[in-house]
Amino acid sequence: MTDYGVPFLVALSLAVAAFMSVMYFRERKRHRNLANELDSISQHVSDQLKRDKLTGLFTRSGFSALIERAAKRVDSDGSSFCILYVGLDNFGLFNDAFGHHVGDLLLKEVSSRLKSLVGVKSKISRITAGEFAMMVTGGTVIGRDMAKRVANSLTAPFMFDSIKTTVSSSIGIASYPAHGSRSNLLEHAATAMRSVKLSGGGDFCEYDPKMGAKVHDQAVLVNDLRSALELGQFELYFQPKIDAITLEVTSAEALLRWKHPERGMVSPEIFIPLAERFGLIGPIGNWVIQEACRVAGGWRKQGLRMRVAVNISGYQMREDDLVERIEDAIQRNGIQPGRFTCEITESVAMEDTKVTQHTFEKMRKAGFHVSIDDFGTGYSSLAALRKLPAAELKIDRAFVSDLEESEDARSIAKSIIGMATALNLHVVAEGVETVGQRDLLVMMGCNDLQGFLFSLPVPADSLERMALSGNLQESVPFSKSLFTETRPAELS
Ligand code: C2E
Ligand code: CA
Ligand code: CA
Repeated sequence: MTDYGVPFLVALSLAVAAFMSVMYFRERKRHRNLANELDSISQHVSDQLKRDKLTGLFTRSGFSALIERAAKRVDSDGSSFCILYVGLDNFGLFNDAFGHHVGDLLLKEVSSRLKSLVGVKSKISRITAGEFAMMVTGGTVIGRDMAKRVANSLTAPFMFDSIKTTVSSSIGIASYPAHGSRSNLLEHAATAMRSVKLSGGGDFCEYDPKMGAKVHDQAVLVNDLRSALELGQFELYFQPKIDAITLEVTSAEALLRWKHPERGMVSPEIFIPLAERFGLIGPIGNWVIQEACRVAGGWRKQGLRMRVAVNISGYQMREDDLVERIEDAIQRNGIQPGRFTCEITESVAMEDTKVTQHTFEKMRKAGFHVSIDDFGTGYSSLAALRKLPAAELKIDRAFVSDLEESEDARSIAKSIIGMATALNLHVVAEGVETVGQRDLLVMMGCNDLQGFLFSLPVPADSLERMALSGNLQESVPFSKSLFTETRPAELS
């Protein structure tokens, strides 16, 4: 090796080393950039996963992480926070009525109203379909105050193109640490919300440990209700309406009974509101119509000509093919339209929605006999009543039961009868239990009477047997002619 060979080799090695290290650091930087880029992509993806696509609010998992963080802070500083669980009442029915597109618009509008209440850095989540959760700093006093503000803000009408609607909400409040641990706080707020829903909705309340069992019990009942129709657990009972003067039976009201395998007979006052709230009344109501017409068709063949009356819920009034389905059922069973009574409660009848009024118009055209049920509780005006195609008013049971004791009840009953007579409407008093009540109602000019004094609601074949033999077991004598074809003209 020459003398200058060594330095050359050293210089070469240094150059190679320098080159390698430049390459190394460049590569490392590239890796680091790549890693940072990947980190930011994955952060973005995970943020996206924590955000609801429709509303941009936190998803359930994102919100759970927020609860976790807030609880840690509270554990160390001794403060508190509340979860408000907000459920839109009847959101499923809203979706069915107006379609998912309008349902989505409603959810977006609700989320922006909620955001406007708590500001830009709001901690709000859409948990599922029509259910939201909000986190507010402070104890239950703050939580209740916010619940009031949320409820008020949601009651203002929503406008979507030609649709103007209002929604009510049920709100459950659970505060940390008073009402649960980090892991079950959200569920407890949801339980409180469900408890509000089960008692009719449109309100708010704080979580109470006793709610769990009650909500569970109702949830089991709703679940059983879903299969009751399929399992043939429903039966119709019938209660007669009696002509106050002649004591003839003019009509039989169909009252639904649920024979639950473990609970026995469940009252319609319990399961009808549940069926309405959980969107099950459609098929159940349809079954009632079909079954009532089948039974009435059978009576007709035996020569019994009383009307059959069916209770129609608010939900059914909004079904666009209700009238057609009734027409189909009465035709198949040989019943004249005027012999089919639709009993619609005063509060539903006075709903000024286009759909309800459209159904009334179709009922008028179809020639059904329309009866306004539970009358006297809704303070209807005479002018509003005249617009309806009603032929009958039923005085609510509450006024009848107080008749003998209360001067107020007597004057209400008297004025309802007077008003109905002026409008040429037939008046029925429901819930007549005593001879005293009957005598007062007859004196006031009430046309028909219905109640335990005459007959309990009974199965169809019992009513048929009693009718055919003319032997009703009650305290008032019944004439056999009631059930024969002696009064077709008056009845139709
Ligand atoms: P409603 O339409 O006001 O029916 C009258 C209720 O009063 C019936 O209760 C009947 O058994 C009861 N009742 C009759 N006479 C007397 C009496 O003298 N004294 C007392 N204390 N009660 C009397 P039920 O059968 O438990 O039905 C309760 C409610 O459930 C009905 O009230 C009606 O709103 C609803 N419902 C019943 N069946 C159906 C149905 O098929 N469809 C719908 N949508 N609702 C129904
Ligand atoms: Ca009724
Ligand atoms: Ca009634």
